[in-house]
Amino acid sequence: MAKVCWECKGKMKEYVAKTPEGVEYRYWKCSKCSEEVLDIKQLHAVAEKYRALKAYSVTISKWGSALAIRIPREVTQVQRIKEGKKALLIPEKTGFKVIPEKA
Ligand SMILES: [Zn+2]
Repeated sequence: MAKVCWECKGKMKEYVAKTPEGVEYRYWKCSKCSEEVLDIKQLHAVAEKYRALKAYSVTISKWGSALAIRIPREVTQVQRIKEGKKALLIPEKTGFKVIPEKA
């Protein structure tokens, strides 16, 4: 499929790339000016796959006077999280982010 760059009218070449999570997506890159285009449909598809990969339903339970959530096994394996490992908990506007310390 031939696409033309909207910026310089150069030829667009199709490429396949992967996000760090391994979600494949296609994009076009101009051979003249290096402009990169990802179409909206692709963007939505990638976002959907991201959501499927990234969202887990967890239950908040009580642990002493604090609350705890279980980290699903799949996540611990992918992120290489082990008992005793430290992590940063960063409160955000609509929740929080947990970043495990690097090994
Ligand atoms: Zn171009």
